[in-house]
Amino acid sequence: MPREDVTKVVLSESDIPTAWYNILPDLPGEPMPPLHPATMQPVGPQDLAAIFPEALIMQEVSPERWIDIPGPVIDVYRLWRPTPLYRARRWERALGLTPKQRIYYKWEGVSPAGSHKPNTAVAQAYYNREAGIRRLTTETGAGQWGSALAMACRMFDLDCLVFMVKVSYHQKPYRRVIMQTWGATIHPSPSDQTEYGRKVLAEEPDSPGSLGIAISEAIEVAAQNPDTNYSLGSVLNHVLLHQTVVGLEAKRQMELFEDTPDVIVGCVGGGSNYAGLSYPFAMDVLQGRAKMRFVAVEPEACPTLTRGRFAYDHGDTAGMTPLLPMYTLGHTFVPPPVHAGGLRYHGDAPSLCALVKAGVYEAAAYPQTSVFEAAVSFARAEGFVVGPEPAHAVKRVMDEALAAREADEERVILFNNSGHGHFDLGAYDAYNSGTLEDYPLPQEVLEKSLAALPPQPQPA
Ligand SMILES: *Cc1c(COP(=O)(O)O)cnc(C)c1O
Repeated sequence: MPREDVTKVVLSESDIPTAWYNILPDLPGEPMPPLHPATMQPVGPQDLAAIFPEALIMQEVSPERWIDIPGPVIDVYRLWRPTPLYRARRWERALGLTPKQRIYYKWEGVSPAGSHKPNTAVAQAYYNREAGIRRLTTETGAGQWGSALAMACRMFDLDCLVFMVKVSYHQKPYRRVIMQTWGATIHPSPSDQTEYGRKVLAEEPDSPGSLGIAISEAIEVAAQNPDTNYSLGSVLNHVLLHQTVVGLEAKRQMELFEDTPDVIVGCVGGGSNYAGLSYPFAMDVLQGRAKMRFVAVEPEACPTLTRGRFAYDHGDTAGMTPLLPMYTLGHTFVPPPVHAGGLRYHGDAPSLCALVKAGVYEAAAYPQTSVFEAAVSFARAEGFVVGPEPAHAVKRVMDEALAAREADEERVILFNNSGHGHFDLGAYDAYNSGTLEDYPLPQEVLEKSLAALPPQPQPA
């Protein structure tokens, strides 16, 4: 039976994990390598060397199950890790649950940037610094990844150059201000700083920008400057790897609660926060030691796992990156302006997609009005105003708990509360005032963007 006298478990600094868990050796099915778009051959380390340091390229393809976390990275983690794990006692009561239904959440909103993203930003800044790099470039939409990287670069004395989607640059000035406070340089994208940006501006001077354009600008700067590398905040294996500190801590904390999750829930933009929480638990399932359900949650407006096609596709909109095997809506897909900026991505991490394809993970999609309704219910009980992204997980958790209550079933639910929503109050304002809109994705729009998938490799 679970501990009934505990609301949150806070570990001590000496409990910060000392190794990350790499799921690659435990994944079901044949590994599918990323392909070079021109040759359709597997991408080699040399193809990536212009924009990533060797240590991260090696992690990207590592067959090792455990990878040591460098001491200087752990030293930065100490600022906010370990993060607390809560039992949602007040929300359980508000939902009218019985003692058979229990809800737990890992709270990543305590990091300086307010989300899980610094877990990988800090590691990436460290390895680049070790490789003699002076500056990192990246793109950011709503600003969560840009602010995590801006902070991490400061910790390791690197310059940070962020291409921020122009419409967000103007709509979300506070994220820009926090990045500048950490010393980063921010350009609204498309910018006049790159050849690609100038080309877009010449064709469309009033372009609002997109993540795809911003990625292209950031990669161009990294590829052309030997002292500059590029940094990505989700999707790639090494990013998901760094996030497993979340789940490794959570396993320990669930033990101290003397409880075991039946179902683990998380929101998915590119897959990093959900992989971070769930992979260390999935390890036990994949190795045959445990049984558990896993539910990945996404917006109805950007339903990659629930309605996308499993195919090789580009990671960016411009079609410059290697082809990744994943569920995708097509790299030309333009997501509607839902408030969960971090979930507006056309693809997902290949490892997570492989788990969905193998039936180990389930996926679900929700319209944003139902998501905010659940987030408000959570905020009124637990106090935390969560980001629009984890609000998707909150919605699924609520449905799981209520269904178990109706069926009078035991169900222990754990979810990743990946960040706070203090920079997203405009979204709550729209919900509170009844002006929030849903964007169900019309089938013909989906088919049009799937028709633009690149040619697929022929089976050997
Ligand atoms: C970026 C972001 C996400 C989505 O990205 P993943 O890589 O899927 O985790 C989710 N939650 C928060 C708070 C984010 O900032």
